Amino acid sequence: MDIKTIKKQFPIFNNQNIVYLDSAATTQKPSSVIDSISEYYEHFNSNVHRGLYPLATKSTEVYENSREKIAEFINADPDEIIFVSGATEALNGLSRSLILSGLLTKNSQITLTQLDHHSNILPWQKLTNKDIDYITVNNDYVFDLEQIKSIKTDLLAFPLVSNVTGTIFPTDSLNEFKGITVADATQAVGHIKVDVKKMNIDFLVLSGHKMYGPMGIGVLYGKKKLLEKLPPFNVGGGMIKQVEEQDYVPSSGIEKFEAGTPNVADAYALSKAIDFIQQVGIDKIIEHENYLKGIFLKELESMDNISIFHSRQNSTGVISFSHNSVHAHDIAQYLGDNGVCVRAGHHCTQILHKYRLNIPASVRVSFGIYNNRDDVEKCLNLIKASIKLYS
Ligand code: PMP
Repeated sequence: MDIKTIKKQFPIFNNQNIVYLDSAATTQKPSSVIDSISEYYEHFNSNVHRGLYPLATKSTEVYENSREKIAEFINADPDEIIFVSGATEALNGLSRSLILSGLLTKNSQITLTQLDHHSNILPWQKLTNKDIDYITVNNDYVFDLEQIKSIKTDLLAFPLVSNVTGTIFPTDSLNEFKGITVADATQAVGHIKVDVKKMNIDFLVLSGHKMYGPMGIGVLYGKKKLLEKLPPFNVGGGMIKQVEEQDYVPSSGIEKFEAGTPNVADAYALSKAIDFIQQVGIDKIIEHENYLKGIFLKELESMDNISIFHSRQNSTGVISFSHNSVHAHDIAQYLGDNGVCVRAGHHCTQILHKYRLNIPASVRVSFGIYNNRDDVEKCLNLIKASIKLYS
């Protein structure tokens, strides 16, 4: 499948003439994903798990098949996959549940990284009384393997891929790791191979909308042994074994984490997003991102007064940069006005921008499988024009 054919599967590009270089914020959706939402409501709609009629059985089957698909995709078991609304809900729920379980206490040592997104910082800040440690990155925005190996902490939460520099976290460093590990895989799934067993990850979160799937659906993965020890983070219908006047007994298994009516249509659409990624092939995605990134970086590096925030060693197609005198928002606005969508700001990484990059905002360009060489060249030309205009 060539990129032209792949791009044709994304109706948004047939409906408007834009260059979309903001896939780290959310990817565009192929028609197979969009159509599957209508398909669900037209053919399968019924509440799951409780109905005794064929339509309810079908809806439950669709939902559970989607769980199986995501499990297989990240090399987990289906009973380790909890559907949530997105990574943010997953991290809030997980942190609450870890405290309730006693696996963590208010005095546990939490270690995060300079590259973490606010969604993987604030939930941990909320639960601890102790100062959080932050792992730094070197001048190439790469983590030091030996430093990570030597860390002693109760919980290490990290971005599997940074949403600013594209840095891929060295999960090899976790082989001997003793504490709890939490991977924020929102920027990783659909860009690199994710294998929770190989990567030695205890918990992982992802958002469907960043992997060609719909908004409003995400996943919390947890090792079965650990999930068994965690209490539910939401309570209500669908998650209990028994309810008494003063108390309740939760269901066993992952059902206890999915209170209320789940987002079945979007879980189904997420399974279609996985089909899409698998049809294109992760190797092809990686190769294509590297190709685009190569063209973009070569030109950006030749420009004066630009600082590039990107890991050249081991990274995906997410590149941020700033100009010495032209504000990031001016560059992004100029690009936007001329049909090129990029992001400017702190990208929910104020710690990184304030303490490491020492700037309030950067411009971020992030690639998806639908981008081509023309997109990159148009973006570069407009960056140059905006700098000329505002300098
Ligand atoms: N982590 C990272 C690295 C992200 O880029 C994002 C989304 N910007 C999140 C977490 C939160 O994801 P969501 O908004 O889908 O909950």
